[in-house]
Amino acid sequence: MKRRKFLATGSVLGASSILARGATSQGLAATTRVTQGVPTVIATWDFGVKANAKAMAVLKSGSSAVEAVQQGVMIVESDPKITSVGYGGLPNASGVVELDASIMDGNDLECGAVAALSGFENPVSVARKVMEETPHVLIVGSGAREFALSKGFQERDLLTDAAREAWHKWREGERKKDQTEDHDTIGMVALDSRGQMAAACTTSGLAWKIPGRVGDSPLVGHGLYCDSKVGGAAATGIGEEVIKVCGSYQVVEFMRQGVHPQMAVRKVLQRVLDRQPTKPERWVGFIALRKDGEVGFASTNTGFQVAVANRDGNRAIVAESLR
Ligand code: ASP
Repeated sequence: MKRRKFLATGSVLGASSILARGATSQGLAATTRVTQGVPTVIATWDFGVKANAKAMAVLKSGSSAVEAVQQGVMIVESDPKITSVGYGGLPNASGVVELDASIMDGNDLECGAVAALSGFENPVSVARKVMEETPHVLIVGSGAREFALSKGFQERDLLTDAAREAWHKWREGERKKDQTEDHDTIGMVALDSRGQMAAACTTSGLAWKIPGRVGDSPLVGHGLYCDSKVGGAAATGIGEEVIKVCGSYQVVEFMRQGVHPQMAVRKVLQRVLDRQPTKPERWVGFIALRKDGEVGFASTNTGFQVAVANRDGNRAIVAESLR
């Protein structure tokens, strides 16, 4: 988890965002409650605020929840200053930016994903093509590159000067050889006013990862899951820990059983903690959105933030920590 500076300094995020209190041990604060029929978007991290703004604009224009989550997360993918997603993401151990992304339509459970894809700024758009134009769910590596080219996506060098410099420093040993510091996925779940839902998830994964390593983000059921009959969820954190508990699917399944989204998130995080109590660096966070607009979010560790956009505005919220 890369602690964002503002947490330490307490500074505000931006003109459009208000830092609100999030979930408490008693349940959700009133500020996070929403009304059925009102478009709602939830995303991971403070960069989720600008992604949510785009997604909300798409929803308000009458487009689908799938379109909203795709366009929303693309804002973060295309931002070179965000070093954990898309263009500008930190590379793998060989200096190559390898991206993982997925998208899911909660109406029919259709989904698409790409993994270990290099050279394309918006892997979520390639994932959507997988969903809509192939009989498959996941395409990886060189096959994903060829597929993207065949669909007209333009190749681009994703390694910015800043990311290259960071990689050189890491190789020279100036940085701790720790893969748990530099990563943070954008996961997003959206609900439109018709009750239709979708989710997307996109990341450059763990910095300095072994080439070919695939995290949770492109794995449906792990990095994201969405069923409009119930709700959706998405994950961030150490992908291997998310995969071990089928994280996002399990959050949605708890909601299907009637568990409140906040409790559903907590129950899955507790599974992570129960099996990994001595490795605090193996942290995980989840967001959840129920079909009626109720949200949940929490992390095993402190420092996680989410962005919630609904009729009350679009704001960053500090999530509760179970540790
Ligand atoms: N879950 C991502 C991965 O393991 C990283 C993150 O969200 O921090 O690739």
